[in-house]
Amino acid sequence: MSRYILSIDQGTTSSRAMLFDESGQSAFNAQQEFTQHFPKDGWVEHNPEEIWTTTLGVVRQALHRARSDKRTIAAIGITNQRETTVVWDRSSGEVVYNAIVWQDRRTAGYCARLRLQGHEAMVSAKTGLLLDPYFSGTKINWILDNVDGIRARAEKGELAFGTIDCFLIWRLTGGRSHVTDATNASRTLLFNIHQQCWDEDLLALLNVPASLLPEVFDCAADFGITSESLLGEEIPIAGVAGDQQAALVGQACFEPGMIKSTYGTGCFMMLNTGEQALTSSNKLLTTVGYRLKGKTTYALEGSIFVAGAAIQWLRDGLGIIDSAQQSEALAASLDSNHGLYLVPAFTGLGAPHWDPDARGAIFGITRDTGPAQLVRATLESVCYQSFDLLEATRRDGSTPARLRIDGGMVQNNWLCQFLADLLGIVVERPAQTETTALGAAYLAGLQVGIFSSPDDIAARWQVEREFVPAMDDKTRKLLLADWHTAVIKVRTNA
Ligand code: ADP
Repeated sequence: MSRYILSIDQGTTSSRAMLFDESGQSAFNAQQEFTQHFPKDGWVEHNPEEIWTTTLGVVRQALHRARSDKRTIAAIGITNQRETTVVWDRSSGEVVYNAIVWQDRRTAGYCARLRLQGHEAMVSAKTGLLLDPYFSGTKINWILDNVDGIRARAEKGELAFGTIDCFLIWRLTGGRSHVTDATNASRTLLFNIHQQCWDEDLLALLNVPASLLPEVFDCAADFGITSESLLGEEIPIAGVAGDQQAALVGQACFEPGMIKSTYGTGCFMMLNTGEQALTSSNKLLTTVGYRLKGKTTYALEGSIFVAGAAIQWLRDGLGIIDSAQQSEALAASLDSNHGLYLVPAFTGLGAPHWDPDARGAIFGITRDTGPAQLVRATLESVCYQSFDLLEATRRDGSTPARLRIDGGMVQNNWLCQFLADLLGIVVERPAQTETTALGAAYLAGLQVGIFSSPDDIAARWQVEREFVPAMDDKTRKLLLADWHTAVIKVRTNA
């Protein structure tokens, strides 16, 4: 009987489960959205119980489908929204506070104080990250200091911390496994990415007791077995990676110099730098790309907080489009951008500027500015920001010839062509654009022997369409110059 791999993709707005067959083709997809909580300005929380019930719901749907297809599940792979922080009671399994989501800015003041005290160089050297509220460490500190009685219980060893992968593994195994993988650990601000271990200096700085922390495994490993009473069967959890790292694997970017960019709510570009943990001089993050058989492959990462979210704003906020798909025809209906530039710094600017206080702006409005111009400026802004990320990797010494893209936005052909035009390199859209879930499935499949090696996975990657740069250099330079003038105007830390 042939087998499926079950991939759990626990994202920021929804929980998904997908089934992949032994050749890596997708066979089933179930998705459930859950509630976003915004208790205060800049705060973003999820209810971990809702994360759990939606995940369990889609997992059960997938298992049902597998049974009706008369297939067994060889293994489970998990990929997840990264950095989001959960703390729970080890004996009851109850969470002590909502999950604090990666987008949450409540620890901005604490990060600024740590920076002023001169700690950023040490933190960056060990973690590859910056002192920004984005990462888990300061969120753990906030829970310990702000939820009644929690610090004392943590110090007694009664509590556990986990990113979402770790929380799900704990629940799926009936509390038997408190483990995470190296990619998720690398986003906590507590993990030394060079020595691949939790770091005492970082734990002391952020005042986090070591007893809270999970054990850190390779991305393909034996994370635990699902509890039979929960799912009706015991299935090994065999692959784990944070969403962007899973996409790197799903895009088969296994060679140093290979680069992918994912265009969903935000945009995340990741460059494989091999065994070398490169330090960026241009504010890119150094992170664990994946760890297999004890060998760490590093990556440089650039994160943009608003990409598809700006299209959602056009649709839901301004109401000038009915669907995201419409943006393609509207942008293509114009012969140029009519001098309109939109900087979507709705929640500040991410890489390479890291300016949390910047806010969005539109420049060059004239009497002929209408919905089409606004839509085009919004799509263009995603490409300009990608240019800035790629330029940062170039300044850091990389010379990628091709960019592999994925995520919901890349269905937009106009966007993909404009991206290739601006970047000046070939942009490749793969046949399978569900790269995040696929990456988790590949990792699990590696562990249980369905896939033999990264090379075996790389051989399965297929291009669906290539976008070749066609814009003349002069036009390109003029557009970029205007964009950079617009960005300077919104910056508060330039
Ligand atoms: P996430 O995983 O972050 O939830 P997805 O990868 O599912 O995101 O992508 C959804 C995003 O892509 C949405 O923000 C949506 O506005 C945008 N999007 C979807 N289709 C298009 C399109 N044809 N053109 C432009 N943007 C699109």
